[in-house]
Amino acid sequence: MDDSIQAIHTGLQAIVGSDQIFTGTATDRWSRDWTGQFEGMPLAVVRPGTCEEVAAILRLAGQYNVPVVPIAGNTGLNGGAYGAGSILVSIERMNRIREIRSDARVAVVEAGVIVAALDSAVGQYGLTFPLTFGAAGSAMIGGVLSTNAGGANVLRYGNVRDLCLGLEVVLPDGRVLDLMTALKKDNSGFDLRDLIIGAEGQLGIIIAAILKLHPRPVFHATALVALEDLREAPALLNAFQDASGNAVTAYEFMSRSYVAGYEKLVPTARRFFENFYPAVLLVELATVRNEELGELLETVLGDAMERGVVADAVIAQSDMQRQEMWSLREAAAELAFRKHPVIDTDIAVPVDCVAEYLERIPELGPVST
Ligand SMILES: Cc1cc2nc3c(=O)[nH]c(=O)nc-3n(C[C@H](O)[C@H](O)[C@H](O)COP(=O)(O)OP(=O)(O)OC[C@H]3O[C@@H](n4cnc5c(N)ncnc54)[C@H](O)[C@@H]3O)c2cc1C
Repeated sequence: MDDSIQAIHTGLQAIVGSDQIFTGTATDRWSRDWTGQFEGMPLAVVRPGTCEEVAAILRLAGQYNVPVVPIAGNTGLNGGAYGAGSILVSIERMNRIREIRSDARVAVVEAGVIVAALDSAVGQYGLTFPLTFGAAGSAMIGGVLSTNAGGANVLRYGNVRDLCLGLEVVLPDGRVLDLMTALKKDNSGFDLRDLIIGAEGQLGIIIAAILKLHPRPVFHATALVALEDLREAPALLNAFQDASGNAVTAYEFMSRSYVAGYEKLVPTARRFFENFYPAVLLVELATVRNEELGELLETVLGDAMERGVVADAVIAQSDMQRQEMWSLREAAAELAFRKHPVIDTDIAVPVDCVAEYLERIPELGPVST
């Protein structure tokens, strides 16, 4: 072994102890992502347990000029946690929910807390951490902050940037940046927090965060809505928002080829419509106390059907049906990565330009949506 590599291993051992260092095939869990697109042997994977240990690792890496890549749940789809030849710093041991301050509706958490675990922990206070997406059962707070994840509730609650008040970060030279404020109104100085959110670990390693919580909706009304023309979707969304006082939590579009692909992927899944329509929308309204959401959904849909805007619609009659509708939507990543080659990226388009955007995609070549 090269002298400097030996020195790095010795240094890492002194910081975290040898049982928190993994090399060779023991790094498999971290050295490839589940899409199979990014795979590379790191110099070592280390699992620090404290902010001080992270700081010491970064100082050591700086001394030997070795790259460092933080890794959380390893569910990212774009190779952000790819770390061949580098020290991969797994934050999974820093997974304490330090405090749930229900009166202030904030949670103080470490970066290794799993997204869905936080949401279930705050449930007992009638609150929710509303970020949700297919990998919420594995993705961690440090990872979702670093990718500024959105998910299925983004329409109502915004990206994770909108859910974060404070951050604790170790900078590349080992200094600790304490931005752990719980202030909702904070007009002091430069906004370093927003610089770090979405930086994919390039500016430092997130250790902890103060996150906003919201009242936990308990009534849901969910439907799959088939449209002949996606151009009708923005006006229909506004009709749902106006009728419900902005209670729409999800409004997710699935194309004809997506729905057909899902049928192939899960042949036993319920088929909601006889026909394949150009656009299927998953619509969900949610509130804390209004039990009449179902009727409201039906009224807006009935009106839209009379006007010929909606071709067909199915309203979930049970929690199981609601889950089945969500399973259809949440297969997106799995479906996408069955195709080869695949270039996966997040594209954001203003709501009233989505239909035109999708129509113009084929101009780029043989791309499926
Ligand atoms: C099935 C599925 C569905 C998805 N659906 C959506 C969706 O609807 N909307 C959406 O926005 N995204 C979606 N995603 C992507 C999602 O945003 C990412 O998977 C998630 O944010 C990554 O979290 P992670 O904990 O797995 O981070 P990782 O994959 O481990 O890391 C992601 C990035 O963050 C960096 N990082 C990790 N921890 C830290 C830290 N402590 N400090 C600094 N940097 C760090 C890593 O270096 C890497 O660059 C989906 C992914 C999957 C697999």
